[in-house]
Amino acid sequence: MGIISLASGSSCWRGLDYFKDKKVIRLRKINDKEYTSIVNGTKNYNVYLNLEHPRKSACDCPSAKGKRIICKHIVATYFSAMPEEATNFENEQDRLQEEYEKYQEEIYYKVINYINKMSKNELIEELVHVFDYGPEWIYDDFVRRNYIE
Ligand SMILES: [Zn+2]
Repeated sequence: MGIISLASGSSCWRGLDYFKDKKVIRLRKINDKEYTSIVNGTKNYNVYLNLEHPRKSACDCPSAKGKRIICKHIVATYFSAMPEEATNFENEQDRLQEEYEKYQEEIYYKVINYINKMSKNELIEELVHVFDYGPEWIYDDFVRRNYIE
């Protein structure tokens, strides 16, 4: 497992911001697999990054100190050490977003297509179901838009 897959989504995004805002102020390479840095957050935090054993990475900020958590400071250090991974991360997120939107659009057209094939009775049943189980505002909106008094 890599640093990114072990970190939470918000740590990844915040870490990316920190990297872009150049908050990693002192990056030192120990060897190909280990780095240390100082990251300028609320305070200055000391980060140890281990690419070979990501869970051995450490940071002395309140959310990661003494825990095996990959915080935003570790992620920011990772992106500073491997800038191409920051680009990969962003491209991958863009790709996932596009895929999701495409999927949503496909489902939407399938739903419209399905509705077009439903009988009047089936449509009535569905509408009543939405009124019974959907949010109340849908019912209120229906009453208002159709001038039902
Ligand atoms: Zn931290």
